[in-house]
Amino acid sequence: MSVALIEITRYLELCLQPDQFRDYCPNGLQVEGRPRVARLATGVTASQSLLDQAIDWGADAILVHHGYFWNGEAPQVVGIKRRRLTALLTNEVSLLAYHLPLDAHPQFGNNARLGQLMGLVEHQPLQPGDPGSVGNIGSLVEAMPAGKLVDRLERITGRPPLHIGDDDDPVRRIAWCTGAAQGYIEAAVAAGADLFVTGEVSEQTVHIAREEGIHFVAAGHHATERYGVQALGEHLAQNFSLEHRFIDIDNPV
Ligand SMILES: [Zn+2]
Repeated sequence: MSVALIEITRYLELCLQPDQFRDYCPNGLQVEGRPRVARLATGVTASQSLLDQAIDWGADAILVHHGYFWNGEAPQVVGIKRRRLTALLTNEVSLLAYHLPLDAHPQFGNNARLGQLMGLVEHQPLQPGDPGSVGNIGSLVEAMPAGKLVDRLERITGRPPLHIGDDDDPVRRIAWCTGAAQGYIEAAVAAGADLFVTGEVSEQTVHIAREEGIHFVAAGHHATERYGVQALGEHLAQNFSLEHRFIDIDNPV
């Protein structure tokens, strides 16, 4: 089965509503390839290795969370950018990218998926009313020692998270945001969270966690952002009878 590229892009537009976000990159079709799609590859970041593996597999389109053309980047098509665009254009493979809309979607979002995997209930926005914020707060069904939740995250992501705080402290109110959202730690404190999970950490995050008495967990930017694009790819595959393959290019950050 194959479907028109334009049908997929229209469907994604309706589903992910990118106009609702103040984002740092264009969301949607970033590079146009052949007009019909039978094989859809998904991945976290449109790196050269992801493109190479997707093209080897025979993908017609690639859907990612981290695409191209970020605000503030140099516009010239040279070096890495030239090589990546050449690979897509010469093979007529489309690139579709959704950044904040794919963090925030209530069903296919990175945050919704990670929240489900952690066993959190009563998901709420961490900063309601701020269209630039995609953080969340929710609860564990029962309080548990922080170390147990960290072990759970290690099982989910397949890598040991960094945890600031005492493993034995009970935690229940959990704030989280996938990716590089360490800057939300103060919002997590203000919202009364016992523990804040994100992907990355900065030097100052450790001091804020210690001085505010909030547990902090950095579980990996790539590791926490694998789940949304996979869920969305599976959904598109079912909806449009496509072949789908999630390609995981390991990244230790
Ligand atoms: Zn990210």
